[in-house]
Amino acid sequence: MEILVKDSIARVADRSRREFLQTAMLAAGASIVSMPVLARQSDRKLGVALVGLGSLSTNQIAPALQKTEHCRLAAIVTGTPAKAKAWSEKYSIAEKNIYNYGSFDRVADNPEIDVVYVVLPNSMHAEYTIRAARANKHVLCEKPMANSAKDCEAMIAACQKANRKLAIGYRLHFEPHNLEAKRLGQEKVLGKLRAIEAGFGFVIGDPTQWRLKKALAGGGALMDVGIYALQGARYVSGEEPIEVVAVETKTDPVKFKEVDETIYFTLRFPSGLLANCGTSYNAGFNRLWAGAEKGWFELSPAYSYGGIKGRMSGDKTISLPQVDQFASEMDDFALCIKNNKSSGVSGEEGLRDLRIIEAIYQSIASGKAVRLKAGG
Ligand code: NAD
Repeated sequence: MEILVKDSIARVADRSRREFLQTAMLAAGASIVSMPVLARQSDRKLGVALVGLGSLSTNQIAPALQKTEHCRLAAIVTGTPAKAKAWSEKYSIAEKNIYNYGSFDRVADNPEIDVVYVVLPNSMHAEYTIRAARANKHVLCEKPMANSAKDCEAMIAACQKANRKLAIGYRLHFEPHNLEAKRLGQEKVLGKLRAIEAGFGFVIGDPTQWRLKKALAGGGALMDVGIYALQGARYVSGEEPIEVVAVETKTDPVKFKEVDETIYFTLRFPSGLLANCGTSYNAGFNRLWAGAEKGWFELSPAYSYGGIKGRMSGDKTISLPQVDQFASEMDDFALCIKNNKSSGVSGEEGLRDLRIIEAIYQSIASGKAVRLKAGG
């Protein structure tokens, strides 16, 4: 049996919010004459400043911005003049909307910028999020949120102080197959969950890249892609882990001198459910599986930019529309800003993951299970 979903959940939510707003305005006695002005304001595309024009910005985020309904690429922040020139020509970005890392704080004076999207090496996320909040901009920050839970807390505090919204680039929260896995697990469609297996790894290339330097990356495979397995276990179960035990191995101790190569970690949830999760920079795998009382379901690949596929017991496939996850993520954040709602992928969500990641590293270092406070 094929499960087909015509509209993405985000679009339905968007339409419902618009209808609700219109009904509320009419109920409040707003005149029909004043409505188009308000509608025009809410239809305005929010200006996004991209900070860091590396691989993700170039190949995924900038193309996705061209597909969004509620955002537009308004500005760029780069330390490389050649990139500034190429991007300004390709995306018609005015000279006044091009910044470097030194001039970045001047985004405060630019009303065309509503959102700063931080797409820098992990260690720089906290600094640029905090500077963006001080410049009175909303912030979308790539995963992992920061190199430590302490930095995450500082980022949340800076955005709260500036009354700006903060979201983390957890694109799979906008991907239909992952949303279906979340629904199957959380609504106990196949009964109570009994076990989860989640893993994401790939063979990393260039040994000189920042991802292999602890100061810039914070950690290795776990920080970069293991976080997807952790997220998967959390959103499929709908529970927060209370204990974690983890082991690490380095089959190439030279290449992975500073960061983790391969880690397996087991999460214990309050219901008694266990999730066995893996991650690697030296082996390719990409899977989210859950076994329940009356059957099982699986996404494989589960975490890619496209081509996500699912199966479930009873010889069923989970086949849903493939969407541009980055476009959906950015439109969702724009709607959160326009409708003054907090994001489902908020800074608090990023902080929860960093607390668990720190406990995983602590378990590896101590060789013991580490207890977590329920709810992160
Ligand atoms: P990248 O190496 O391709 O790009 C990094 C950018 O940061 C480059 O433009 C580089 O010039 C700039 N930079 C500024 N200061 C730097 C410094 N001191 N050292 C190195 N680079 C510096 O990396 P990327 O793949 O674009 O990743 C950027 C961020 O996006 C990371 O946090 C990563 O985890 C995240 N990411 C998320 C996804 C996702 O699916 N959501 C995918 C890939 C990367």
